[in-house]
Amino acid sequence: MSINLQTPIDYLKGVGSSRADLLRKELGIHTYQDLINLFPNRYIDRTRYYKINELQPNNADVQIIGKITGFKEVAQKRGKRLVATFQDDTGTMELVWFRGQKWIRERLKGNTPYVVFGKASSFGGKFNIAHPDVELLEDHEKNLRSALQAIYPSTEKLANRGISNRVLSKIMQQLFIDSGGNFAETLPESLRSELKLISKSSALFNVHFPKSPELLSRAQFRLKFEELFYIQLQLIIKNLVHKSKIKGLPFNKVGNYFNTFFKEQLPFNLTGAQKRVLKEIRADLGSNAQMNRLLQGDVGSGKTIVGFMSMLMALDNGFQACLMAPTEILSVQHYNGLLDMCNKLSISISILTGSSKTSERRKIHEALENGELQILIGTHAILEDKVKFKNLGLAIIDEQHRFGVAQRSKLWKKGPPQSSNGGASIPPHILVMTATPIPRTLAMSVYGDLDISIIDELPPGRKSIKTVHRYDKNRLNVFRFIRDEISKDRQVYIVYPLIQESEKMDYKDLMDGYESISRDFPMPEYQISIVHGQMKPADKEFEMQRFIKGETQIMVATTVIEVGVNVPNASVMIIESAERFGLSQLHQLRGRVGRGAEQSYCILMTSHKLSTDSKTRLETMTKTNDGFEIAEVDLRLRGPGDIMGTQQSGVLNLKIADIIKDNDILQHARYHAKNILKIDPKLVQADHQVVLNTYKQLTKFKNIWNYIS
Ligand code: ADP
Ligand code: MG
Repeated sequence: MSINLQTPIDYLKGVGSSRADLLRKELGIHTYQDLINLFPNRYIDRTRYYKINELQPNNADVQIIGKITGFKEVAQKRGKRLVATFQDDTGTMELVWFRGQKWIRERLKGNTPYVVFGKASSFGGKFNIAHPDVELLEDHEKNLRSALQAIYPSTEKLANRGISNRVLSKIMQQLFIDSGGNFAETLPESLRSELKLISKSSALFNVHFPKSPELLSRAQFRLKFEELFYIQLQLIIKNLVHKSKIKGLPFNKVGNYFNTFFKEQLPFNLTGAQKRVLKEIRADLGSNAQMNRLLQGDVGSGKTIVGFMSMLMALDNGFQACLMAPTEILSVQHYNGLLDMCNKLSISISILTGSSKTSERRKIHEALENGELQILIGTHAILEDKVKFKNLGLAIIDEQHRFGVAQRSKLWKKGPPQSSNGGASIPPHILVMTATPIPRTLAMSVYGDLDISIIDELPPGRKSIKTVHRYDKNRLNVFRFIRDEISKDRQVYIVYPLIQESEKMDYKDLMDGYESISRDFPMPEYQISIVHGQMKPADKEFEMQRFIKGETQIMVATTVIEVGVNVPNASVMIIESAERFGLSQLHQLRGRVGRGAEQSYCILMTSHKLSTDSKTRLETMTKTNDGFEIAEVDLRLRGPGDIMGTQQSGVLNLKIADIIKDNDILQHARYHAKNILKIDPKLVQADHQVVLNTYKQLTKFKNIWNYIS
């Protein structure tokens, strides 16, 4: 018997409309298909029964046979709780309900054998289970128990409304009864036999109702493989379609601008990594397809010059280029940094930000449209519809984690029209530069539509930054150290956290900090800059410039300083309340120093109270300067969901696989997906029909991540 898996969940026996509503809202289960894909979080042994005197404070879930010998109501702060005394031949314990008490009292009988199940905790020497699953022993014995019973994800609401794990399990059982346990195969026979994968039906059965630990693990493997396989297949297909369909602007030659710059003006020798990446970019730009490349490189690895030289390639082929940065400070810095080089090459360059004056804007708009302006630097002001290019050939996005996918696609539309009568535009080549290292495997899944280049080498002569952790009580020593460094003509950053939720408090911390620093470093001997998000852009810029020019020795700032700011003479980075920062942020901040030839330092200041995670973060920072290593730890601590840029990715919505733990399976899945597409790109072979059909089905019902438009 086969059933239609797209049937709404309401139709399943035992569900009904109110439960269906809950399942939809709480677990996103709309159809039979969704239910079958509700995979257990874990498994517990339901063949084992505990005696009350065997309970331990650290027991997870236990089941106990006994009788209720009495009820009492206990008043508490809000409302009351219902407590039942539960007894077996070894002792007594308590069952506790905070809700649904009336119902419980009416239903549960005294002196009748029950099986209770739940998490036992101990309180005042007595064990209790809050909101246990309670079943008549008589009923319990009729059901088959397994040593591996599935525990499904749940929510408080589901539990409150009576959809316990037992109910979920029953509903699941019903689905297997209705379907006869037959589910269409979704992987090709050849692949299954090669990898010794069990059938889909067997895998689904055993993941929900494992017959043995061995079958459970084979079931999990098969389902994880399948999930990752289809995600990879989709990414690879998108990438192939992209390359064959999305026409790129032809950059046929390397011309005068590039050559002159390379031969006469390059201020240093490029590192090997920079050269390699430039070659990769060059190859993309010279092909007929649109470039979509992610350039990863640790802070200070020299991405800007690579970006600039790519722009020169665009200009050499008669196109315009733009560079977009997430903050005004950064845009200005890029502009100032490139201005000199552009002047020497007689290239026209302008900057457009939120604070550009109307008259300036008008000039820029005009010069862009008539093609006089060759390079535009700016913030997301560049994305406004009013900003039209004559022939934008290359768009570079710096520090992309600040920009979303939507913004990227806006840039796409700024390309030159296909024909003079205004046909569809050809998207410019896109280069995304980021200093937030994403572990390669994750990047593969998150940015599957982007090709990836990595600068994994720092310019020569960089001394690695010395990082230490100091407690607040060491502040005097830290200040002494700052004085020493300033006396050697170095400059110092002191950064305070600014977390949205506690913004007011944070500004107070910042201002208090600023005052105390002003006292310890008095004028006129010391000059201090302060920069934070509540200042007007012009004031921020003014203070930044004072620091860049070396007029001030200390820069007190919030994290606005985080991204990309380049002051090579600054050699000390003090991070206040460092325990409140995430790893990638700490790493970014640290990257503000160590940009010159001098030894640089990063001092992480914290209070004494530190969580385990904070400790791990601080230890990681003091141990390594390697952005990729730090990213791996970050990934472990936070999971992929919180890593910058992955939020909108859907990697999070994996149903059974875990992008980190199942990395080996991911590699396999990717390899096989690639391989199948290589031998049979259109999936026409008989054995691959199942792949084609499953793929279509998945995209149709959006069961896999619907990637970037
Ligand atoms: P990031 O990758 O963080 O954007 P930048 O492009 O700002 O790094 O470069 C950091 C500093 O290193 C700049 O001062 C830049 O001029 C310098 N730099 C870049 N490449 C080299 C190189 N090959 N040799 C020496 N210095 C370099
Ligand atoms: Mg940069």
